[in-house]
Amino acid sequence: MTSQSQQERYRVVILGGGIHGVGVLHDLVSRGWKDNLLIDKGTLGCGTSSRSTKLIHGGLRYLEHIRDFPLVAEGLKERQLLMNLASDLVKPLPLIFPVLNKGGVSRPMIKIGLSLYDFLAGSKRIERHRSIAESEVSQLAPTLDKSLFKHYYLFYDGQTDDLALVNRVAASARSHGGKIVENTKAEKITPDKDGYIITLNYGGELRTISTRYIVNAMGPWAHEILSASQIEPKYEGINNKGAHLMVQDIGLKSGVFLQSPEDGRIFFVLPWLGKTLIGTTETAFSSSPDSVITDQNDIQYLLDHTNRFFSKKLKEKDIEAKFSGLRWLAKDKTAGLSDTSRSYQISQHRHGHGIIFTIYGGKLTAYRALSETLGNMIISDFGDLQKSQTDKKQFWNKTSLNIESSVITRFRGM
Ligand SMILES: Cc1cc2nc3c(=O)[nH]c(=O)nc-3n(C[C@H](O)[C@H](O)[C@H](O)COP(=O)(O)OP(=O)(O)OC[C@H]3O[C@@H](n4cnc5c(N)ncnc54)[C@H](O)[C@@H]3O)c2cc1C
Repeated sequence: MTSQSQQERYRVVILGGGIHGVGVLHDLVSRGWKDNLLIDKGTLGCGTSSRSTKLIHGGLRYLEHIRDFPLVAEGLKERQLLMNLASDLVKPLPLIFPVLNKGGVSRPMIKIGLSLYDFLAGSKRIERHRSIAESEVSQLAPTLDKSLFKHYYLFYDGQTDDLALVNRVAASARSHGGKIVENTKAEKITPDKDGYIITLNYGGELRTISTRYIVNAMGPWAHEILSASQIEPKYEGINNKGAHLMVQDIGLKSGVFLQSPEDGRIFFVLPWLGKTLIGTTETAFSSSPDSVITDQNDIQYLLDHTNRFFSKKLKEKDIEAKFSGLRWLAKDKTAGLSDTSRSYQISQHRHGHGIIFTIYGGKLTAYRALSETLGNMIISDFGDLQKSQTDKKQFWNKTSLNIESSVITRFRGM
């Protein structure tokens, strides 16, 4: 941004620099659209996009609902694409799915689920799932308590460093002309004759810019700016908290996909960047997204559930870092919290030639597909035909921007 008194104008302004914001910017510049600006109130990826479970997956558990099959299939397709486009950042991860002796999903149901997962992946499959013997389990997850399980399956998904992925996509967008400004808060949107005026706050200094299209990619914060601007949201948005703990490496060579026999909830214990990552809880969250923290209930839930399945018992002092993120979803009025579809929605507010697009839901895994869909909506409204090129390697940078190297200090205060 410049400090000229004349107002800057962009064709597209993207609010929020999580995976969706940088994804949309990358999509637009790959089509040759350079007249865009992305704003984040913090640093890139500082919101939900650095607090995920780091899986690049279709989401085996989403197979519970037929309505989510397309979401799973899309995730599996994108998983393969990302493993090609950023192979140093998105890698295959073996996962054990043990069958509980008592309770939990039955062995036939798990088998059906894994077969369907393979089927939906089709040729994009990493490896077909298979049954494995206890001896193999002992190699992959030495401290898993085998007295609790009667059978084991092994299947594959992808794993990444989410913050590094955000930075890679941002670096790719920048190297093709994308403009990004961090530490600048979007305060308010005001409709005007040419679209919208956005009031920005940069360290207490207020400035305005104008634009035709706004992409509201602020995730859990998306409704804050709408209400500050007296714009009625098209969907009811809900936030759903998920907490993670990071402990010293407990010797896992694969991830473990576990199920609580009491509440049926799935959680993961995963090897990640030389540590072990445990997550996640799922609780409704209605306070300000800035106030999300991992509280004592989250810690207890995750420690208790992990300790029940592993012979090495973890204590609170073993926790090296913790972090929580918010799943921002368009509420399905007929469903409960955990039943609300993870499919994304994009709402539109129109004013003259201008449009505000607001993103609800979505997954790290499928951010590229969502960004392409949104790019298509903008381009076609403008009457352009340029195609997205984000599925081509030449539109990707090979290295990321500088990110904090320590995985522990990254999560301070979460
Ligand atoms: C616990 C949990 C686990 C998950 N695990 C996975 C997983 O394993 N795999 C997967 O595929 N998906 C996963 N997801 C989903 C995935 O993480 C999210 O869908 C994705 O990160 C959302 O990205 P986003 O860009 O929409 O939002 P965010 O990453 O939250 O970005 C929003 C940005 O907007 C900025 N912002 C806010 N207000 C303003 C303002 N006024 N002005 C300017 N900027 C502003 C924020 O600073 C932030 O950077 C998980 C989600 C959660 C919550």
